[in-house]
Amino acid sequence: MKIFCIGRNYAAHAKELNNPIPDEPVIFMKPPTALLKDNQAFYIPEFTQDVHYELEIVLRVSKKGKAIEPQYASRYYDMVSLGIDFTARDIQQKCKDKGLPWEKAKAFDHSAVIGTFQQLTEEMRENGITFELHKNGQIKQKGDTKLMLFNFDDIIHHVSKYFTLQEGDLIYTGTPAGVGPIEMGDQLKGYMNGNKLLDFKIK
Ligand code: ZN
Repeated sequence: MKIFCIGRNYAAHAKELNNPIPDEPVIFMKPPTALLKDNQAFYIPEFTQDVHYELEIVLRVSKKGKAIEPQYASRYYDMVSLGIDFTARDIQQKCKDKGLPWEKAKAFDHSAVIGTFQQLTEEMRENGITFELHKNGQIKQKGDTKLMLFNFDDIIHHVSKYFTLQEGDLIYTGTPAGVGPIEMGDQLKGYMNGNKLLDFKIK
């Protein structure tokens, strides 16, 4: 099972981190040991002083495919959930400054929080999905998949150019603006189209 993540997929988020708008999706990966399920608490690792939340819509790949053309891409995913791409922003900045890979900042243990999966409905495919992150009861991020620079089908197309997709692979589709730090004692909740799919504590 593989975990793909798309970076800079919302213009407002690319802007808030002073990153250019990409002309093709930014792709990176996390190992299976990054997953954190079942609303288990997230423990802030000792190697970072600045972990940020990034709430994202996550697709589950439903069948094997390679070099998938955009017009067939919608056949390759059928479940959707919310996830958090936890990022050690201080480490990421150091890696970016030196032009080094950023796995240490993005792919560490439990950096990929995942909620319960739901069937992706026809209505969601047509009208998009809205989602929200609440920290300690306050709204911090508001997303709408209609604002993605690369939609689900584009993402499947681009990722499958380089990597064979297999059933069960997960794709984090990028975060909207509003990313920010967490601290011990925070409670994070994620809502997709109004349904709470994430609710866990920071320790
Ligand atoms: Zn992200």
